[in-house]
Amino acid sequence: MKRNTCSACQFPLNTCVCSYIGPMIENAIDIIVMQHPSEVKVAKNTAKLLSLQLSNVTIYIGENESDFNALRTRCADQRVALLYPNDQAHTLISNNNGTVKLDAIIVLDGTWKKATKLYQLNQWLHALPSFKFDTCHASEYTIRKSKHKYSLSTLEAAAQFLDIADSCDTSALYQLQAGMVKEQMKLMPADVKARY
Ligand SMILES: [Zn+2]
Repeated sequence: MKRNTCSACQFPLNTCVCSYIGPMIENAIDIIVMQHPSEVKVAKNTAKLLSLQLSNVTIYIGENESDFNALRTRCADQRVALLYPNDQAHTLISNNNGTVKLDAIIVLDGTWKKATKLYQLNQWLHALPSFKFDTCHASEYTIRKSKHKYSLSTLEAAAQFLDIADSCDTSALYQLQAGMVKEQMKLMPADVKARY
């Protein structure tokens, strides 16, 4: 481990998020994050925040089908669905529609472009039942701007899914993300900050 990294949250010491971590959230439906290797070192990536706040979350890192063999085995043994707005995706509505029977949901991490690439490279994902959100909530995630107006961070996508399909209280997740944004903003020069 690097000397300037917080041993608890793994963020650099100057952007440590430990003071924003709330009580562990006991989510019933596991969150599975598929992460492209290029996202691992991204300072503003929100997937690692999920690990700090959710009791049931696993991050699988890879790009091609063979990288995800362990996850594919898991999908064969469990009831796993994908959170991705493909043509056959079911719309998630409150009080859920079928999601109660799920063991886990897969969230594709990173920018929209990277998530789409992961989806295209992993044909096995296309065979899973899929879900999408009905309305696009405005993202509070201001650091990683996206060309897609309604693009959610990985954390927000997971939290919104749990808000609809799981009975746990996800407010600590949003607070943790807001804390991370606050810490990262401190490091930005004033002229850059003004653009957000
Ligand atoms: Zn820390």
